[in-house]
Amino acid sequence: MNKYYHIATYGCQMNVHDSEKIAGILEQKGYKASKIEDADIIVFNTCCIRETAEKKIFGNIGDIKRLKKQNPSIIVAVVGCMSQQQGMQELLKKRFPFIDIIMGTTNYHKISQAIDHVLLIKHYYGSVVYEEKPEIIEDVPIYRTSGVNAWVNIMYGCNNFCAYCIVPYVRGRERSREPQKVLDEIKSLLDKDYKEITLLGQNVNSYCNDMDNGWSFARLLENIAKIKGKFRLRFMTSHPKDFNKEIVDIIASSPNICNHIHLPVQSGSNRILKLMNRKYTREHYLEIIDHIKTIPGVGITSDIMVGFPTETDQDFEDTLSLVKQVRYSNAFTFVYSPRKGTPAAEMEQIPASIKKQRITKLVALQNKITREISQEYIGLTKEVLVEDINPKFENTLCGRTESGRLVNFEGNKSLIGQFVDIKILKAKSASLWGERQ
Ligand code: SF4
Repeated sequence: MNKYYHIATYGCQMNVHDSEKIAGILEQKGYKASKIEDADIIVFNTCCIRETAEKKIFGNIGDIKRLKKQNPSIIVAVVGCMSQQQGMQELLKKRFPFIDIIMGTTNYHKISQAIDHVLLIKHYYGSVVYEEKPEIIEDVPIYRTSGVNAWVNIMYGCNNFCAYCIVPYVRGRERSREPQKVLDEIKSLLDKDYKEITLLGQNVNSYCNDMDNGWSFARLLENIAKIKGKFRLRFMTSHPKDFNKEIVDIIASSPNICNHIHLPVQSGSNRILKLMNRKYTREHYLEIIDHIKTIPGVGITSDIMVGFPTETDQDFEDTLSLVKQVRYSNAFTFVYSPRKGTPAAEMEQIPASIKKQRITKLVALQNKITREISQEYIGLTKEVLVEDINPKFENTLCGRTESGRLVNFEGNKSLIGQFVDIKILKAKSASLWGERQ
């Protein structure tokens, strides 16, 4: 008899890729993906980066009570960042006694044993908590769902302890994968005809800092760029304190490495950067940006936060002036939300009304810059890697330029996975529209 699973994924690309690994394990066990109502196993791969994410996940887990009542043999598993938080396992079990398995960020690869346990003993598997320096598990089967792009972990965890961020507490210290393992995985993905590889890590620029093997992120990029064949290489996320000129020069001279750099700044104020424990200054950040701008046609994007504790009008003005100076092609802008257990949650908070005013102002500024940069594309012909059909419009495909811009154009879905030249005819805010050449 067929058995089915459903994975609900929340949060960042790291979680999306973890879910691909969980799916790989479940497929290997003979389960098939399905809608949540038809699943024998429901996995919540959770995120705790913001309070809103957590509330949503609690609501969605609560909704499962009805399904579990109808069919008590459904297995419910909660994995990922949220369940890794201190005290969360107890809270989850108290609020949702129907949960069968709770696992963290470093041991979801054991989900197969956990399921066997529940099936055999018909009993709660329990929670598997955080290990301080867990080993990297290689050769986990991966069921990839990301189309033409393949995610590749190069490292796990983070050592930075930014004052607002929960990640180092739930994902542990930095652990890099062996360079040869990364290179072998990329070669095998390219052999399988993936056209784009995205390297993943909380701070990819500190790759191999935890190993005494002479490797660095720059050396890894250089070696990947030498692999034969046409493909695109992207990476995320970078940290300004570890991003250097050597990385910029390798990107500029390697046709396979995309000219799109996502470099989160978070704030333009030195006072706030210091409180955030970001370990760089506005001046240092802008110096790197000047180097990055030497890469022809580069698209620069960022994460920018408003409303960090004690942020003054002047601090916020510093952020606005930095945004004007850098001119990001796009930015993920968000309001600070306190995370229990982080130093910033204990600092003096600022009123929600001020945060709201500031985010509105920042979004308006960034949208204006994004629109202006989009206009500069009109009339240019750009190579686009076709990713998918655009479901909102008939006969329309979408893909990205090397610089990360979304481009829509008319075409047949047989073009998905191909590189095509598109002449840009119009721009709508962040997205571009064009025709095939
Ligand atoms: S670098 Fe800072 S923001 Fe990024 S994951 Fe690490 S602690 Fe969090």
